[in-house]
Amino acid sequence: MSRFWSSIVHGLSPYVPGEQPKQGTFVKLNTNENPYPPSPRALAAIAGATDRLRLYPDPTALKLREAIAARFGVTVGEVFVGNGSDEVLAHTFQALLKHEAPLLFPDITYSFYPVYSGLYGVSYVEVPLDASMRVQIADYRRPCSAILLANPNAPTGTALPRAAIQELVTEHPDQLVVVDEAYVDFGGESAIPLVARHDNLLVIQTLSKSRALAGLRVGFAIGQRPLIDALERVKDSFNSYPLDTLAIAGAVEAINDETWFEETRGRIIRSREALVRDLAALGFEVLPSSANFVFARHPKHRGADLAAALRERGVLVRHFRKPRIEDFLRITIGTDEQCGKLIALLREMI
Ligand SMILES: *Cc1c(COP(=O)(O)O)cnc(C)c1O
Repeated sequence: MSRFWSSIVHGLSPYVPGEQPKQGTFVKLNTNENPYPPSPRALAAIAGATDRLRLYPDPTALKLREAIAARFGVTVGEVFVGNGSDEVLAHTFQALLKHEAPLLFPDITYSFYPVYSGLYGVSYVEVPLDASMRVQIADYRRPCSAILLANPNAPTGTALPRAAIQELVTEHPDQLVVVDEAYVDFGGESAIPLVARHDNLLVIQTLSKSRALAGLRVGFAIGQRPLIDALERVKDSFNSYPLDTLAIAGAVEAINDETWFEETRGRIIRSREALVRDLAALGFEVLPSSANFVFARHPKHRGADLAAALRERGVLVRHFRKPRIEDFLRITIGTDEQCGKLIALLREMI
């Protein structure tokens, strides 16, 4: 605390990311990073772009927006890119979600949503997940200005089918529906094909998870032009160059390298199915996952105890001290070898 702080700073409760250990060799299953490297084509493009670092990057990141537009069958004007999808989300809060009626999002979801609400003064109501920890779209039939869903949801991993998102946008023609698809490539159905027919839908994705580029910081939004225009107005009032030269070069190739994308996400999905079976065999209750993590609890062991014991033995998983989910562990899908180590340790502990 300091007398120099702006008054808003006193009231902020910042997001707390998962641990990034500074030393030691941990098996990192705590922040939903991809266990495989990024596309070699992306890495080569990054290396090949260093001779342009003297110059400012393209402020419109046109090449990347063209690649994303081609990949998803939309126009360049329907694509917004940012420094990670967290930044895209932040601009969305400021540009599109601040209204008199509240924003709705689940009580258990990505914990950055209440943080951005606080930062931008957005009023919100948390809608409880149902007893099986799923989003029920019927629960969103209440006064609001907008709805924000992570689909698949985090940290639960459960997904709504595209038909449910379609129902939601149809039921709320005058409310914006924002779908955060950070994990969609691991088994979800993207809502992007609905954008052409619905002017109240914005879909946000990231290259951090399925394209293994968390360190490059690239995310994007797809929506009809007026929504993208709002995001661009905020972006151009904040930072002209959120994506640097290396990020643009690498992201273009990561989007274009479909072979690498399909191969690595397929491996992660197969490892997830094996991990779910192994956890169930140890007595864990595992929520059905469409993501690169599973959310699981053991009827006889407290989540905090399991997370601490695993950490002592060199494996990091994520645990949230939050009502309803304090006995769950969120476990990122690693390589089969990493998952094997986790299971071997749990077998000793349980
Ligand atoms: C990881 C994650 C993000 C943020 O991804 P970045 O693009 O790395 O900022 C956004 N939403 C959800 C639900 C996530 O899990």
